[in-house]
This record gives sequence, C-alpha cells and structure tokens, in this order.
Amino acid sequence: MSENRVVQGRMVTPERLAELVEGERPMEAEEIEDTDRDCPDCDGSVISVGYMPSVTEFVTAYKCQDCDWAETDR
Ligand SMILES: [Zn+2]
Repeated sequence: MSENRVVQGRMVTPERLAELVEGERPMEAEEIEDTDRDCPDCDGSVISVGYMPSVTEFVTAYKCQDCDWAETDR
C-alpha cells in the first residue's frame, strides 16, 4: 500500500496534497485517505488528508483527484 496518490496526473505525498489545498507546506500531514464523496465539479474521486498548518490547528482537506476542486473543514 502506498500513501501517495495521483492528483491531476501527478503523484503527491500527504504533505504535497496539503500544500496544494492550503497554499503552504504543513508542519505535519497524516496519510491520504479515500472518501465516498464525488467531486461537485467533475464527479471525480475525492480524497482527504488531515494536516497541521500550525501547532494549534488541525485541518482536514478534501481534494478532487481530477480537477482543481478542493475544500477544507475550516
Ligand atoms: Zn473534480
């Protein structure tokens, strides 16, 4: 099992996936997980990653594997 996933044609690590959504590299990121959600824009598969943008914050990000759609639970 690999924790890396293909997002928009590129293999990404959990840290890179969080960076794609957040715009900055997180302090820490957990493993990428599959979700049962479909992308509202393109019906693609949505994956999630939990990460810490700072020591006091934990965010879960959701990202489509096929297009630019992303959101967080903030
Ligand atoms: Zn999409």
